[in-house]
Amino acid sequence: MLTREEIKNIFVKAEAFIFDSHIIYTSGKHGKAYVNKDALYPHTELTSLLCKQIALHFQAKQIDAVLAPALGGIILSQWTSHHLSQLTGREVLGVYAEKSSENESFVIKRGYDSLIKNKKVLVIEDILTTGKSVKKVIETARTIPCEVVGVAALCNRGGVTSSSIGGVPELFSLLEVTLETWDPSDCPMCKEHTPINTSVGKGKSLT
Ligand SMILES: [Zn+2]
Repeated sequence: MLTREEIKNIFVKAEAFIFDSHIIYTSGKHGKAYVNKDALYPHTELTSLLCKQIALHFQAKQIDAVLAPALGGIILSQWTSHHLSQLTGREVLGVYAEKSSENESFVIKRGYDSLIKNKKVLVIEDILTTGKSVKKVIETARTIPCEVVGVAALCNRGGVTSSSIGGVPELFSLLEVTLETWDPSDCPMCKEHTPINTSVGKGKSLT
């Protein structure tokens, strides 16, 4: 298992985590750090390595399947189930839930619902901000029914807790960040005339 510092360095290497910068978020607020999962996925080796850390953490939990909300979660579900299979010597399935076309909930289709029925499932998500999506995936999974033994995330940036997503035995995140934000008028980087990062967020429209 890699150390927290080594894990952080993987995010930095993939440019999926920017810190000590001057960011304008889509909300219009300013801050120093930015998490961009989309930058990570093209780097398959790094994505695999991060998912392996999650697999190592949960390898003793007898997990039968890894379930994720589409879209980005599918990649994580595939890599994590692959590594769990390698580590445990038994097949761990990788499946996903998708957004319902009728409402805000998630559905498990394509026969995946019968594959995970009465099984032990690890739910995986990229970035936890409010935990809303993952909470809905857990609710759907429990109606199958299957046993949600834990939730894993690449990054918890919203201080999401197990109880805020419906109560799961374990919530595990590779990276915990608190993104402090300021109104532009109070922004310390603006006061110091630090150049705005124009590669992410609203700063992109400044180029
Ligand atoms: Zn600023």
